[in-house]
Amino acid sequence: MDWRSLDEQYIVSTYKRLPIAIAKGEGNYLYDTNGKSYLDLFTGLAVNVLGHSHPRVLRALHEQGDLFLHISNVFLNQPAIRLAQRLVENTIAGKVFFTNSGAEATESAIKLIHKWTKTDGAGREGIVVLRNSFHGRTLGAVRLTRQAHVYQDFPQPAFPVYELDAEDTEGLRAICREAKPAAVLMEPVLGSGGVVPLTESFLREVETICREEGMLFAMDEIQTGMGRTGKLFAYQHAGVTPDLILFAKGVGGGLPLGGVIAGTKLMNQFKPGDHGTTFAPSPLSAALGNAVMDELLDPDFSSSVAEVIEYLWSGLEDLRSRLPEQLQALRGKGMMVGIPLSVTPEEASRLQSNLLEEGILVDVTQKTIVRLLPPLTLTKEDVDHFLAVFARQLKTSSPAQEA
Ligand SMILES: *Cc1c(COP(=O)(O)O)cnc(C)c1O
Repeated sequence: MDWRSLDEQYIVSTYKRLPIAIAKGEGNYLYDTNGKSYLDLFTGLAVNVLGHSHPRVLRALHEQGDLFLHISNVFLNQPAIRLAQRLVENTIAGKVFFTNSGAEATESAIKLIHKWTKTDGAGREGIVVLRNSFHGRTLGAVRLTRQAHVYQDFPQPAFPVYELDAEDTEGLRAICREAKPAAVLMEPVLGSGGVVPLTESFLREVETICREEGMLFAMDEIQTGMGRTGKLFAYQHAGVTPDLILFAKGVGGGLPLGGVIAGTKLMNQFKPGDHGTTFAPSPLSAALGNAVMDELLDPDFSSSVAEVIEYLWSGLEDLRSRLPEQLQALRGKGMMVGIPLSVTPEEASRLQSNLLEEGILVDVTQKTIVRLLPPLTLTKEDVDHFLAVFARQLKTSSPAQEA
């Protein structure tokens, strides 16, 4: 069967595909239809937090699958209630609204913030976001996504959006002198914007400005959450307290699930009928989410993740000192790594193909930034394996070149 041409014939071509078909996943590896194995440092875009076929996740899949798959929101949903409780208990005081995806989490955030402007936030309007941010591709979310190739000339909902540079607290103060935004929404580490971590001091200062001005302080943790940066959510490194947390990607253990944790200022804004969705929260997704939480909240697991994170970063730093010309910068946090290469987009794409050829799957974002989103179950052997192959590929790739 020629899957590639059938794909081209029947599926709208919005995605650039890699030339392999996956037959199965096991642990930190994927296997293609020819039986070739790939170390998965992409994890379906930060979704497969525990790698593939994790026993805890599979057990939850079978147990819940035997009971029921869908019941709708007219009934109590036990797996979802339990997951919401654990999300709240490990973050901020508040309540959860569940969605099926990240973009819908952003839509829910926009509606919640809007509701708040009609009550406690009277006189305030609009949302401050960062240049190069990514918050999703539905029309509301795309308004907050400040990447021109994403927002293009699609129709835009009318609420005001203010664009700020990362680390520019003066810029935020300037916006607040001119206007009265209702909220600031930021990714603690800009993901598709190039793996740019915000400094803890910037996050703390933004929180302070939000408190002074009476604005809501919201974190998009869709990519950075579920343990990715070494804490359950990345904002926790900075010791700040958001009013609103967006989550998705890893939270459903591989199945679609997202949502927001609405803090005390927002948790009672939605009344019955104000917002809703047919599918979310899928009991099956929520059951898998609980299995992921069981693992993430296990202190033995988090200490072994911390150890591998340290091992990964010291290995990367070591590689950078050995190959200073090819590896000029490294950035990210925990299991979220960005490696900007001074090569052309074609060369970056060739490097990705060569790594794939050698059995290692990495992502490339912003055309020339290698992005690693490994599973939290990554081992030191996996790190050694990646670094050895990556070093070899970097040495053979063409030298730095002006674009
Ligand atoms: C992926 C992502 C989204 C959108 O999530 P979807 O499930 O693809 O709609 C929003 N914000 C961030 C930070 C993301 O990484």
